[in-house]
Amino acid sequence: MTNDQLSQDNPVDRHPKITPDPQDQDFPGLDAKLDPKADLGETSYRGTGRLEGRRALITGGDSGIGAATAIAFAREGADVVITHLPDEQPDADKIVELIRAEGRTGVSIPGDVRDRQFNTELVERAIAELGGLDVVVVNAGKQVSRPAITDITDEQFDETVKTNVYGMFWLLKDVVPHLEAGASIILTTSIQAYSPSDHLLDYAMTKGAMNTFGKGLAKQLAPKGIRVNLVAPGPIWTPLQVVEGQPKEKLPKFGVGQPIGRAGQPVELAPAYVFLASAESSYVIGETLNVNGGVDSP
Ligand code: NAD
Ligand code: MG
Repeated sequence: MTNDQLSQDNPVDRHPKITPDPQDQDFPGLDAKLDPKADLGETSYRGTGRLEGRRALITGGDSGIGAATAIAFAREGADVVITHLPDEQPDADKIVELIRAEGRTGVSIPGDVRDRQFNTELVERAIAELGGLDVVVVNAGKQVSRPAITDITDEQFDETVKTNVYGMFWLLKDVVPHLEAGASIILTTSIQAYSPSDHLLDYAMTKGAMNTFGKGLAKQLAPKGIRVNLVAPGPIWTPLQVVEGQPKEKLPKFGVGQPIGRAGQPVELAPAYVFLASAESSYVIGETLNVNGGVDSP
């Protein structure tokens, strides 16, 4: 395994081909309990000053893709507020510690993005903690696998839409008035937005909605100098997958069907978020950056 994200090596072998045993965790799951451990870039991500002085809010920043992004943002010079569910405090504490180890401000705010009021409070608190916001990453997400449409309860459908779509809408509605020219909004969508799995109907629908919403919002905010972009990950090894995100029997083969032949690690997503957050992507607007190990995307 590499010890620096910028070293030139073979991407096929950069991370191990994992074959996770079927495993279960109660929602929302902990990164600390994943077997094998996910690589969040703790020992490998090296910053190059691309987000010096930026102030970032990352939802679902306690684990998985959001956590790897939080570590990378801090190493690029940003102050970071992460938000997560209260049960995820142990994961959040670790990420806050890593942010602070870079000499940056790191704050964790627990709460539920399905709660309208929490989104309002989150924006107010994040701005109070950091003195403003320049980067907003809408990354909290819910994914529950069910074999048939008749297995999707109305409650599940409601929770998936509340988390992935309403959570996004409420947060953005509250935060956009506070953003200034130069700010960047990044939404985590998914390959599922255009290539839905038969067992992820409700989830895939929400990711399609996010992808479309983000592209429209990008046009609305571009004249103000606020850029909106999206990242569409492929199969990445994170807690969401073992909670109920995949059928258990599929876990040992998670990600092996990608052209690269393995699942991705959260650290492999972080540079996409850094690029879209930083000023170097000034002419990239309404783009969905696919990070999926080689699968076709529109
Ligand atoms: P993860 O479990 O590490 O992160 C998801 C986070 O969402 C949790 O840590 C939790 O803090 C947050 N969350 C969920 N429900 C919430 C709620 N009601 N209130 C507040 N926070 C809530 O898994 P991840 O895979 O890193 O997921 C991050 C994003 O990436 C999600 O939007 C997911 O849909 C997307 N994604 C993941 C994959 C993958 O293969 N792992 C692929 C494509 C897209
Ligand atoms: Mg988590």
